[in-house]
Amino acid sequence: MLQDKDRIFTNLYGFQDFGLKGAQSRGNWDGTKALIEKGRDWIIDEMKASGMRGRGGAGFPTGLKWSFMPKESDGRPSYLVVNADEGEPGTCKDREIMRNDPHTLVEGCLLASFAMNAHAAYIYIRGEFYHEASNLQRAIDEAYEAGLIGKNACGSGWDFDLYLHLGAGAYICGEETALIESIEGKKGQPRLKPPFPANAGLYGCPTTVNNVESIAAVPTILRRGGSWFSSFGRENNHGTKLFAISGHVEKPCTVEEAMSIPLRELIEKHCGGVRGGWDNLLAVIPGGSSVPLMPKDVCDDVLMDFDGLREVGSGLGTAAVIVMDKSTDIVYAIARLSEFYKHESCGQCTPCREGTGWMMRMMARMVRGEATLDEIDLLWDVTKQVEGHTICALGDAAAWPIQGLIRHFRPEMERRIKEYRARIAA
Ligand code: SF4
Repeated sequence: MLQDKDRIFTNLYGFQDFGLKGAQSRGNWDGTKALIEKGRDWIIDEMKASGMRGRGGAGFPTGLKWSFMPKESDGRPSYLVVNADEGEPGTCKDREIMRNDPHTLVEGCLLASFAMNAHAAYIYIRGEFYHEASNLQRAIDEAYEAGLIGKNACGSGWDFDLYLHLGAGAYICGEETALIESIEGKKGQPRLKPPFPANAGLYGCPTTVNNVESIAAVPTILRRGGSWFSSFGRENNHGTKLFAISGHVEKPCTVEEAMSIPLRELIEKHCGGVRGGWDNLLAVIPGGSSVPLMPKDVCDDVLMDFDGLREVGSGLGTAAVIVMDKSTDIVYAIARLSEFYKHESCGQCTPCREGTGWMMRMMARMVRGEATLDEIDLLWDVTKQVEGHTICALGDAAAWPIQGLIRHFRPEMERRIKEYRARIAA
């Protein structure tokens, strides 16, 4: 289990002051000027050495992503955009940072922006996060007043401005190009890639979009060194990580742990175990609703990291762990997710716009048992027509939970259909 001294987020539960004084007492803003003076290449090299992979879901190496940004300006400004539109069902980790430890993010924005030659950064926060936005704005104001950001930030000679932008409740604005469109004042719909944001992002300028947790961890990684961060976890899956555990556990929580912790240990050490004991577990969705569920036998030994979860046909995603015990109506649970994705599809591309509707309606028939047994294969086929055929990943996100259901719980789907047939025949 991760020791307290190794935690990056030391005020995750808000027991201490989230303001500047409290943050400084926890080590934030300590020696920031000296970190900047070490230079851009040093910062990017440390981030590469840390092995950090993006904490928003895609898992792309953070230092490598930063290195795609132009070193010299071609006349266009560069931007950092922080994705704080945390809307993935089950996910509630970034909000704890913004609510209780916002200065980690503000300081991280300064350091990351400096490394990418960006004099301005935007934090795009979901509109429902009223308290988080309020605390974050206070932290930004405090940092300006103390000269930590703004002109000559921290006395480093670097000018840096930070803006908070509230979204308006669309899940799709968590997709990086839809988020950029939204900041620009347009309808939040994903763009075709390429061009990638590093070439043509916000206002057509070089832009990197990073998740809140990724950026907020940067100051501590730079202070302690990339090799310190990479000492946690295992090859290709380094560092500490926030896990948000919800559902049928005794004590749902968000906790920072070492990457690659076994799922069972994570749940039993931090959440008091599965309600009714481990043997009462039915399934877990380990990375927010967009990744396939895992039945109990897979959960017994799986490691919570990118590779461990990919090897069992799921994914780390946002590391939002949704635990379902044997009282769960698993078909209904996945059908509910299908409704969500249908509702949140931006409608721009046909496979997603039409496919999410098809999947939602077919899942409703599965819940009631009104479908035929052949329709299970038809439903699988529809998910395959959507997966990989859309502009953004929402199509995949809608398809994968259903694929996981069919792969692991087909007998339950068949049982419902047979029972319904028997009832109407009686
Ligand atoms: Fe919009 Fe869905 Fe296409 Fe994404 S996949 S662009 S959400 S229609």
